[in-house]
Amino acid sequence: MTPVEGRMRYLPTFTETRDTSHIGEEIHALASEIYPLCRSITGSGVRTTLASLSRHIDLNVRAVPTGTQVFDWQVPKEWTIRDAFIKNSAGERVVDFRRSNLHVLNYSMPVHVQLPLSELKQHIFTLPDQPDLIPYRTSYYQERWGFCMAHRDLEALPDGIYEAVIDSSLEDGHLNYGEFLHAGASPKEFLLSAHICHPSLANDNCSGLALLTTVAKRLSSLKTRYSYRVLFAPGTIGAIAWLSSHEADVGRIEHGLVVSCVGDGGGPTYKRSRQGNAMIDRAMGHLLKHDWPAATIVDFSPYGYDERQFCSPGFNLPVGLLQRSQFGTFPEYHTSADNLDFIRPEHLASSYALVMKAIDIVENNRRPVNLLPKCEPQLGRRGLFSTFGGDPDGPAKSMALLWVLNLADGDNDLLGIAERAGMPFGIIAQAAARLHEKELITYPDED
Ligand code: ZN
Repeated sequence: MTPVEGRMRYLPTFTETRDTSHIGEEIHALASEIYPLCRSITGSGVRTTLASLSRHIDLNVRAVPTGTQVFDWQVPKEWTIRDAFIKNSAGERVVDFRRSNLHVLNYSMPVHVQLPLSELKQHIFTLPDQPDLIPYRTSYYQERWGFCMAHRDLEALPDGIYEAVIDSSLEDGHLNYGEFLHAGASPKEFLLSAHICHPSLANDNCSGLALLTTVAKRLSSLKTRYSYRVLFAPGTIGAIAWLSSHEADVGRIEHGLVVSCVGDGGGPTYKRSRQGNAMIDRAMGHLLKHDWPAATIVDFSPYGYDERQFCSPGFNLPVGLLQRSQFGTFPEYHTSADNLDFIRPEHLASSYALVMKAIDIVENNRRPVNLLPKCEPQLGRRGLFSTFGGDPDGPAKSMALLWVLNLADGDNDLLGIAERAGMPFGIIAQAAARLHEKELITYPDED
């Protein structure tokens, strides 16, 4: 890579040409709107969240009945939570669901008991190493009841008899998910997915939902080559339910990204698809190398978010995972500290830009063929050199023309050419556009 090329950052995308200086605030405001809702894998929290997102995009809300067989799983009962508390002998609420929905073990069965503190403690989860934070805990596939609280608050409770109430129900109902569809010129699809099952956790849930809603809103106003599907489904069971009812559509998915934890200042972290070298893996690798020197790229592993289902061997879809800090590695993860102060508009904005640039690469990546491959064509005569007078990027743009012409043999796509040239995709794609305009290259798959 020459020094000039090494300094170049990714060019403004073809796709995102608006002023996006307020996009971070917009995404943060949407995350704040859905943050208070008590989501779980089923129940009204998911429906209310989908209703909120529907005010911004045209969302199809689907309902899968309890008991439906989805591959090796069954859609579980619907959880309703009305209230939960622990009261001391004076009748004061010492733990109160109304103050934080993290206080109740998510998906907890109902209970109403009076117990001595020593016995009640068997149903209380805390974080002794982070004594001021409330942990987020779930019990989906085993019927349990429980509370979560700050360790320091638990230690301050005097012995005595306490009243523990969880006013919840688990009944036949539905699992809900939301789907946004944007039709492009081709039926081939780009899948974007975020989980919708965590209660008041800002980075690990609301950030992904708000960011992808904003991406979907933007896509609505764009003419695209690919069709886009944005999926908001409860983690694991929602993705399984979706895959189980969409086997006929899955073959059209050519690119995919699961998005979570995109509002903090860490990373970015990209986890490759199981395929490892899909176009989305190459695109993310390219973007992170040019724009984010501190980024981390990790290989696929069968643990994480819903890429686990999309990349299961029976599907093996080209779906990667985009995060800022990797899940489980930041101290706020799955605690009450993952709140609205933890996610920042500037980080949401840069994560949004990263997703839009990935879309931009996929939209503009094509496979050119040089129409005058025997020796170099004369570029000056066609005005291809002279137009860059006074442009500081002029020499790099000239190099980009030469790279495209040389590697346009039908085997390389523009992303591969950008990688081989050590130049950002945008400058290669723009060079290709100029060469195409001058009829020096063609796209046999399309022209
Ligand atoms: Zn989580």
